[in-house]
Amino acid sequence: MTDAALTPDQIQQIRDRVAELMPQVRADLEELVRIPSVSATSFDQSQVARSAEAVAELLRREGLDVEIVVEGGRPAVIGHLDGPEGAPTVTLYAHHDVQPPGDDADWDTPPFEPTERDGRLYGRGAADDKAGVMAHLAALRAHSGALPVGVTVFVEGEEEFGSASLPTILEKHGHKLAADAIVIADSGNWAIGEPALTTTLRGGVRAVVRVETLDHSVHSGMFGGAAPDAVTALIRLLASLHDDAGNVAVQGLDEGTAADLDYDEARFREESGLLDGVELIGSGSILTRLWNKPSITTIGMDVTSVEKASNTLAARAAAKVSMRLAPTQDPHAAFELLRTHLLDHAPWGARVTVDLEEHGSGFAADADGPVYDEARASFADAWGTDPVDMGVGGSIPFISDFVARFPQASIIVTGVEDPDTRAHGANESLHLGEFEKVCVAEAIFLARLGALRPAH
Ligand SMILES: [Zn+2]
Repeated sequence: MTDAALTPDQIQQIRDRVAELMPQVRADLEELVRIPSVSATSFDQSQVARSAEAVAELLRREGLDVEIVVEGGRPAVIGHLDGPEGAPTVTLYAHHDVQPPGDDADWDTPPFEPTERDGRLYGRGAADDKAGVMAHLAALRAHSGALPVGVTVFVEGEEEFGSASLPTILEKHGHKLAADAIVIADSGNWAIGEPALTTTLRGGVRAVVRVETLDHSVHSGMFGGAAPDAVTALIRLLASLHDDAGNVAVQGLDEGTAADLDYDEARFREESGLLDGVELIGSGSILTRLWNKPSITTIGMDVTSVEKASNTLAARAAAKVSMRLAPTQDPHAAFELLRTHLLDHAPWGARVTVDLEEHGSGFAADADGPVYDEARASFADAWGTDPVDMGVGGSIPFISDFVARFPQASIIVTGVEDPDTRAHGANESLHLGEFEKVCVAEAIFLARLGALRPAH
């Protein structure tokens, strides 16, 4: 493909057009926020149906062919509009369900009553991810009647509840979502005024390790000193998972390096709540440790509680271990390395078994090529500064479903969040100035993509 040619005038026209559209985009966003579309089971699911219908109606008004699909889970909305003959195609993802609001008392204003304060719009879903839905609509509206690309909009209804039916939706309706580029608007930017593309996510593995040392529990006075107890053996085994500096000691795991972004120790201490005097663990830049290297955490143990303790050598003990993986790491290979490490480090000949409980792939975008070039250029047009490549230490499990289903598509992870958004927390909010830039960037991206044509 050749370089897209959009003149500065065309770019300015899109900026102006989006600026005109923002009051209505904002009003529609507020209407969506007023629908408490919490996908968790204990909440009224008719509200999720209502929000699906509201999103479907917004898309219909833009001329899309719209259907609401339910495949054993919450309703998702799929809308489609053809572009010019031969134009590239884009699928735009967001989700219309939200997290539970938590305790209303923790909110300064009611969670489902959108409220503006200091340039931010507060409300559950005001950012995550109803603003993602509205960014896609703003981009469509900016090109109303002259869409430069073919567009499919896919708005999921259970992202906050584990996307359990997404594999079935992709199996039955995936052919409708195939595109040259897939824009997943469910992440965020690096800082106010500093756009980012989310190019990596870590994967994960959860495993249960069981240790046995005795046929049955025995008196610690009679046998202690010669027979090992299972709890102490388990603790020694878990301790072997890190070196003295706190790096993961399991050999053979992938690791990478984060982009060189400004993130200092003071900020990390503040954000993590690390106690004074407690050291950071691991090596490499903090962001590399959080985004591109593996980490291991003991998240649960089956041992006798302090309250019920007696003078006994425990015969068996178990722990659940959570391992975060470098974005490129195959989770099954990682589990085998973890398992081998634990079996090899069994102290005192203790019997060790390790079972895989859960695994998920990370994401490492193939962040080169013409589609990514146009995405970066669009962000630069909207913000006046180039986007950075950002990682996320956690996972967005459904992204790997998209990667597996659409291996040829360029998958671009964007979003409306900023460091103060508090998605999932009380007082979730959207920075309205940044939101407009997100809308501008997406509208320009569609235009730039439409201008891409095969090289002669
Ligand atoms: Zn989200």
